[in-house]
Amino acid sequence: MPNGPLVERDLKVLWHPCTQMHDHLTVPLIPIRRAQGVWLEDFEGRRYLDAISSWWVNLFGHSHPAINEAVRQQLGNMEHVLLAGFTHEPAISLCESLVRLAPPGLTRCFFGDNGSSAVEIALKMSLHYWRNIGKAHKTDFVTIAHSYHGETVGALSVSDVGLYKDAYAPLLFTTHVAPSPDPRAAAPGTTAKESAAAALSGLADILARHHERLCAIIVEPLVQCAGGMRMHDPSYLQGLRALCDEYGVHLIADEIAVGFGRTGTLFACEQAKITPDFLLLGKGLTGGYLPLSVCLTTEAVYAAFYDDYGTGKAFLHSHSYTGNALACAAALATLDIFIQTDALAVNRGLAATMGEALATLRDHPHVTGIRQTGMIAALDLVADKAAGRAYPAGERRGLRVYRHGLEHEALLRPLGDTLYLMPPYVIREDEIDALVKVLAAGIDVATADA
Ligand SMILES: *Cc1c(COP(=O)(O)O)cnc(C)c1O
Repeated sequence: MPNGPLVERDLKVLWHPCTQMHDHLTVPLIPIRRAQGVWLEDFEGRRYLDAISSWWVNLFGHSHPAINEAVRQQLGNMEHVLLAGFTHEPAISLCESLVRLAPPGLTRCFFGDNGSSAVEIALKMSLHYWRNIGKAHKTDFVTIAHSYHGETVGALSVSDVGLYKDAYAPLLFTTHVAPSPDPRAAAPGTTAKESAAAALSGLADILARHHERLCAIIVEPLVQCAGGMRMHDPSYLQGLRALCDEYGVHLIADEIAVGFGRTGTLFACEQAKITPDFLLLGKGLTGGYLPLSVCLTTEAVYAAFYDDYGTGKAFLHSHSYTGNALACAAALATLDIFIQTDALAVNRGLAATMGEALATLRDHPHVTGIRQTGMIAALDLVADKAAGRAYPAGERRGLRVYRHGLEHEALLRPLGDTLYLMPPYVIREDEIDALVKVLAAGIDVATADA
């Protein structure tokens, strides 16, 4: 069966995320029939290597036998039950595991059912915490330039990517924006540590002026993903933690994209040896199977909400599918795979292979900013490398690479002119090499007329 009939039906009724639907006059929409390991297969038998882990959610490949089996088993017992007044084994076990694995001091788990909800939970919990301890004047937040925390109204308010944000400005609350620690934004020759220090001093100014009104700073530890795969030095996180302590402001670590081994450690915060006040997990939490997110926090935060009902101190945030049993079962099976396959050690080898393969693009006249943190590797297309001049956004060079990829068995969905690899952890070394060859050829095609 060809792809055509499904595409035709789709385009009559669906409205796709992060898409100008008009693009589908020229950019193919691809119905997937089957997904196995790192491969997606369409109805015409064409394959696509899922180099971006289906928007960063998939960790151990599609249709993983152990996760399939865990969900199947759970389905035999119970699909879902409300988590208010009731509880269940998969939710309890998952929270126990997360508390054991997370940076020390994070002892309480509050579930959401997608990443943006976890962000909303942390924002509300932080503000409500300060109110509960008699500091209701603390109402503001700090975000970092180019950060992305999701697209619900609160999450978008603490994000700093114009593409997603500008149209909705009238709906959003204002947030202080601290400078970016991304070394690429600094003067040539500046080290990552120096960039981190410079960004911290900018943040210190904001804190010195506004700390009395501030609830929290929210950060994507080590890699700001949707904002263009911008990476920073772990010392930035240490500095953040110290400044938050000094000024009495919470630190929210949004590890929705970078958690679960993406950066080389189970959680990115480990590389700075810090414990945030809130740790947000989503995306890979269920191995890419089911929507689930969680906000971990400290006993100190929890205790500030614990009181007689009449005091208004309870955290009354609720999602219908809170702690869904099938999703918890998938998450538990995913955590098991980390242990059984020694995934972090495997990732170190795969990350080295990715780095070596991408290094072949170093001298490409239209490639700049090759960078990597663990299982995330990225580069940018530029019109003029020496002058550091970007292509006009309207030329959509990244999209040309995407289209070339689709014709050559690779799903390489870019972020503008930033191309990146963020594959499932079960990719093979020869598949990485093949992927980078397609990427390189795609870049040649996309920049040939420049
Ligand atoms: C994807 C993402 C979110 C939002 O998660 P959704 O499940 O898409 O709502 C939040 N923060 C970061 C860092 C993300 O990458």
